[in-house]
Amino acid sequence: MNLKLFKPLFTLAVAVSLNLAAQNDAPKYSYTEAFKPFFYMNNATETRSASGQPGHNYWQNSADYVLNASLNDVKNEISGSAEITYTNNSFDNLSFLWLQLDQNLFKKDSRGNAVVPMGGSRNGAHGQDFDGGYTIKSVEILSANGKNLKINPKYTISDTRMQIDLPQDLKSKGGVVKLIINYSFVSPDYGSDRMGVEPTKNGKIFTIAQWFPRMCVYDDITGWNTLPYLGAGEFFLEYGNITANLTVPANQYVVASGELLNPKEVYSSDQNKKWDAARNSEKTVIIRSAAEANAAEKNSTATKTWKFKIENTRDFAWASSSAFILDAAKINLPSGKKSLAVSAYPVESDGNAAWGRSTEYTKSSIEHYSKRWYEYTYPNAVNVAGNPGGMEYPGIVFCGMSSKGADLWGVTDHEFGHNWFPMIVGSNERMFAWMDEGFNTFINSISEQDFNKGEYYTPKPLQSMAFAFNSDQMEPIMTAPDNLKERNLGFLAYYKPSAGLQMLRENILGEEKFDKAFREYIKRWAFKHPTPEDFFRTMENSSGEELNWFWRGWFLNKWKIDQAVKNVSYKSGDFTKGAVIKLENIGQLPMPVNLEIKFKDGTTQNVKLPVEIWKRNSEWTFEVPTTKEITSVQLDPKGSLPDANVSDNTFKVDGNSVAEKVDLKQFIGNFSSKEIPLKIVTTVENNQLMLQATGQPKIPLDYEGADKFGFSVAGIEFQFSKDRKGFTLNQGGKKFEFTRD
Ligand SMILES: [Zn+2]
Repeated sequence: MNLKLFKPLFTLAVAVSLNLAAQNDAPKYSYTEAFKPFFYMNNATETRSASGQPGHNYWQNSADYVLNASLNDVKNEISGSAEITYTNNSFDNLSFLWLQLDQNLFKKDSRGNAVVPMGGSRNGAHGQDFDGGYTIKSVEILSANGKNLKINPKYTISDTRMQIDLPQDLKSKGGVVKLIINYSFVSPDYGSDRMGVEPTKNGKIFTIAQWFPRMCVYDDITGWNTLPYLGAGEFFLEYGNITANLTVPANQYVVASGELLNPKEVYSSDQNKKWDAARNSEKTVIIRSAAEANAAEKNSTATKTWKFKIENTRDFAWASSSAFILDAAKINLPSGKKSLAVSAYPVESDGNAAWGRSTEYTKSSIEHYSKRWYEYTYPNAVNVAGNPGGMEYPGIVFCGMSSKGADLWGVTDHEFGHNWFPMIVGSNERMFAWMDEGFNTFINSISEQDFNKGEYYTPKPLQSMAFAFNSDQMEPIMTAPDNLKERNLGFLAYYKPSAGLQMLRENILGEEKFDKAFREYIKRWAFKHPTPEDFFRTMENSSGEELNWFWRGWFLNKWKIDQAVKNVSYKSGDFTKGAVIKLENIGQLPMPVNLEIKFKDGTTQNVKLPVEIWKRNSEWTFEVPTTKEITSVQLDPKGSLPDANVSDNTFKVDGNSVAEKVDLKQFIGNFSSKEIPLKIVTTVENNQLMLQATGQPKIPLDYEGADKFGFSVAGIEFQFSKDRKGFTLNQGGKKFEFTRD
């Protein structure tokens, strides 16, 4: 799913950072707490190895579906049957089954509706006065444990779950039950930002998901996973093969998860030729043009049935519309296999500034992730323009039809990144959103650099997000999405876990070790159900590094990173004899040290120290064998760590040579703004202008010339007026005016 929190929060970074930044009254760093043993809560089992791989008796149940459904495009109603073949590979006999009835979220009296606050939510039916949910017409067991039965079992519906009592236990280790459920539901217009119906000039766009009764996961961790669908928590699903026969008005075009089995029946021979051309084309081929979409009939009483099949999948989604422009291009996979990038969008979204490049984006994303992490397994990858802002399904995603340019690239890349997490690596999204959204946001950050030589890439040093990562207002990452404030989901499920992997890769393990371990995790758990411990154990076992301190600090707790340079001196007071640097670890989350020494002659030297210096110390003094005079020592010069207080990260040895040229006293004062509720005080210390918001730590500003000061790690500038009566605070183009009180 897509959350566009980044930009608005980024522009307010200053306001928030100065309001929420590090509290200085935190307890002192305890190294025994950071590195204490017995991190893992569970020992190895026969299903999950201590090394993080599936155990020697790992099992997983499977669910295959044959889905027949028809769409009434006037009533927005789907009616159908789901024939489910469920295989119990567990060691347990099962006397009942649990299924997910996600559409019941849209019943007026659902638990999900009950938890929508008065201020609204992106979940639920989004203000539509709507009483949706399933009409279950029949439940029939066709066979169980190899015996034909044809009986109607007792079933109980409780919110978004259905329990079916079995006439006899489903046998362990391979028992198979076949059942068929007849149902219907009316689609909400805007279904929790994940599905819906959007009117366009040339007809409605139906984006259909969470639409058929699906098996709950039965596993070795909790048995039946029956948490209800409340909105924020996404899905946890079994793997299997799905066939879908979708009957829609004859003027509509259907795109879906998996391969279309009857192209000759649903496309003209000319369109079929264009599909064949696209399969061999690096460039996007138009299959159905804007002119065709404009000229097509708007209503049809006749119907067509579109037949699809997808293998080894955890879900199936589809979209149907008379309004679709369709285009496609070949996807090249590392093994030499091919897949197909497809886009379906209305004329409103057409054009190269918008969806005209969707197929190019799709192709690039799938090729990138396949090359770097694990090869894509589905026959096509379809991007559909609809009203969900961005939502992922196996082989198909729905993105906002008004998305354009960098936004469309970003959301397309994000939703297809989900094909790796959670479509390939099938973690429990309802419990651990960070394992899909966070891991995906992380792989997106690398894909973004790769696409078209960084066309849409903007570096975002983690230091610039420190205000959020260090906020005391947020829950720990290891909090289920339905258990945390909705406004915090963007940080806790997306950006903070992604930043965790980025630090693990760039600051702790290094790219080579990290990439090898992360690939190993994906390979081990492809089409399986890993837990957080399986991930942590795999990363430690593959890299050979103890990481319990990092898992504890970043994922389980809200420990802060805060390092400081306490002192720089010369041996015997003589710089030709070497320098002595004293560091302090203040935050409870220790990190390896990377610091930059600047010398008076303009040269620099980098020093790296392992995290082990913090295993029995909170201060560390070491010698740098140098013969040159030092001007400054700076921790983390590139801002790659979200240090909670950067004002103590730089130690200046002999003042700021640039600052000598200006009289810093002119910039001292108390300032306030009509635009944001912040009081700012500037002072001069050690020949440097310091800025402080009321009650918050000071940050050092560097003079950049022409009355301008910068705080470069957060990308903030302060442009003073000629008369010094105020300044303009500029962050990423967002400006706030401050005047002297
Ligand atoms: Zn997402």
